[in-house]
Amino acid sequence: MAQYVPPLRDMHFVLHELLNVADEFKRLPRHAEIDVDTINAVLEEGGKFAAEVIFPLNISGDGDGCMLDPATREVRTPKGFKQAYQQYVEGGWPALSCDPDYGGQGLPVVINQCFYEMLNSANQAWTMYPGLSHGAYECLREHGTAEEKAIYLPKLVSGEWTGTMCLTESHCGTDLGLLRTKAEPQADGSYKLTGEKIFISAGEHDLAANIVHLVLARLPEAPAGSKGISLFVVPKFKVLHDGSLGERNPVYCTAVEHKMGIHASATCQLSLEAATGFLVGQPHKGLAAMFVMMNAARLGVGNQGLGLTEVAYQNAVTYARDRIQMRSLSGPKAANQPADPIIVHPDVRKMLLTARAYAEGGRALAIYIALLIDKELSTDDDEERKACADEVALLTPIVKAFLTDNAWISTSHCMQVFGGHGYIKATGAEQYVRDSRINMIYEGTNTIQALDLLGRKVLGDNGAKLKRFGRRIAEFVEEHGTDEAMQDFINPLADLGDKVTKLTAELGMKAFGNADEVGGAAVDYLRVCGHLVFAYFFARMARVALDKKDSGDPFYAAKLHTARFYFAKLLPETAGLIRTARAGVAPLMAMEEALF
Ligand SMILES: Cc1cc2nc3c(=O)[nH]c(=O)nc-3n(C[C@H](O)[C@H](O)[C@H](O)COP(=O)(O)OP(=O)(O)OC[C@H]3O[C@@H](n4cnc5c(N)ncnc54)[C@H](O)[C@@H]3O)c2cc1C
Repeated sequence: MAQYVPPLRDMHFVLHELLNVADEFKRLPRHAEIDVDTINAVLEEGGKFAAEVIFPLNISGDGDGCMLDPATREVRTPKGFKQAYQQYVEGGWPALSCDPDYGGQGLPVVINQCFYEMLNSANQAWTMYPGLSHGAYECLREHGTAEEKAIYLPKLVSGEWTGTMCLTESHCGTDLGLLRTKAEPQADGSYKLTGEKIFISAGEHDLAANIVHLVLARLPEAPAGSKGISLFVVPKFKVLHDGSLGERNPVYCTAVEHKMGIHASATCQLSLEAATGFLVGQPHKGLAAMFVMMNAARLGVGNQGLGLTEVAYQNAVTYARDRIQMRSLSGPKAANQPADPIIVHPDVRKMLLTARAYAEGGRALAIYIALLIDKELSTDDDEERKACADEVALLTPIVKAFLTDNAWISTSHCMQVFGGHGYIKATGAEQYVRDSRINMIYEGTNTIQALDLLGRKVLGDNGAKLKRFGRRIAEFVEEHGTDEAMQDFINPLADLGDKVTKLTAELGMKAFGNADEVGGAAVDYLRVCGHLVFAYFFARMARVALDKKDSGDPFYAAKLHTARFYFAKLLPETAGLIRTARAGVAPLMAMEEALF
């Protein structure tokens, strides 16, 4: 039977031993009162909600899927989803890290990050409904008018209403400059929106009283391309002056997609039939405003990858301890049984440790970036705010793409641990593979993340953001480089840091001559950078574990083993990736299109 145990011990390690978040919060006026006990208590309760309320709905939700009623044009979510959502709202969970001005609890983003990791492990499809609301909240809080904030934010914060992001149209996915949905200004200051959106997650459902669609559309006479896109808020039910719900706004679900995974998440085609909307931010500046939501969602998708990696690992380990097949090559390990448990076989261990290392590295990075966001939002120091924002910008495509690529590798490995039993539905292992695949596609495919990293975030500012991160690594190497016990970690970290510097310079030069060189190298480059970041965190985690290894707590021994495995078996992938990145774009572009 599938299982999920919230990884609270490892979260505590990252929060309190690796990053010392409570000390960091003491400097930030908004969070100065937050202590270790508060953080742990919230996460313990959050873990219970994830494991006891939504995890039991994961497999059944996958089987039920979402149903569109053609008569009412409303979507029914799987059995139990609505009750779980009510519990989520009653527990105050949507408000966790939201602004108290709008009814939020004002807790740090790091707490929300850990909570959402657990929700994603327990049930990614269910988590998409509240997950998108949080992005809509952030976007409206930054770009909404005072009236829009007053109307929508308290309802999104309480969870009474949910949010969506409506970008994609059938002819326009990656290239949003192609979108055609129109917005006609009305005499009363509102707009009538007309067009067809596809693939809209949580676009229609029965969990909440209203749905707040954030829609990209074009004003009349808008410039062509992405410079002519504006952002609108379009509620499912119109909102009256007293805040109560009025008539149905004509934004209807016309179909629910049948898809490979996340069956319980309603992926909707939406038809806007002169629906009433209101401008958010400036005309023609909608894409920039929407980026607030997209950046939040990119981190959220990385977190989906992390959640699935963790839960797939937990289930595969349990199975590997239990399933007996063949004897160990080095002689029987369970002499009282007719065969050994498969966890004795080296390659089974390799698959398990891969998932474990990707979960632990991903958790360290995800909590680190959440802490940067907390600092960015709360510090009084402008220089620190800018430095944090830059680091978040650099790391966001890595979180999105590296964690989701790793989740695909990990969930597939974990399914393999189950052998044929993983491929059939009974164990739940195949669902994690199916669910994880979308994370590499939506919110900007992982290719687009790689282009963003290499093209915009690195070469776009002559490597300044990357150099700052490099300095962090150099300081750590300097501080621990002479410690014998740290050599296994420091040497490969320093070596990879040098190689990334050289590779970046080389790609920058090549890109001057041919811009396609960026496209030819970006995906490999992102993976190399992902490993550099993981190597830095694994070296830091190893440092903490080494310092505490005599405590007798087996947690630190396991952490050290995982770090050693990471450096010995996963990091060396970078050698091949650097070679393929350096091989350039010519082998990709040489063949004429007609020969394909
Ligand atoms: C289940 C699901 C849920 C979704 N939820 C939402 C949602 O809530 N809201 C929303 O607006 N959208 C949503 N989407 C849409 C999703 O974000 C898009 O599918 C995605 O951005 C890719 O767009 P596309 O499918 O049109 O692919 P295309 O843009 O047609 O791309 C096809 C391929 O070409 C590649 N490609 C494109 N341009 C380049 C380039 N310049 N360089 C290199 N490669 C390139 C892509 O990486 C991809 O591999 C969802 C999609 C799915 C399947």
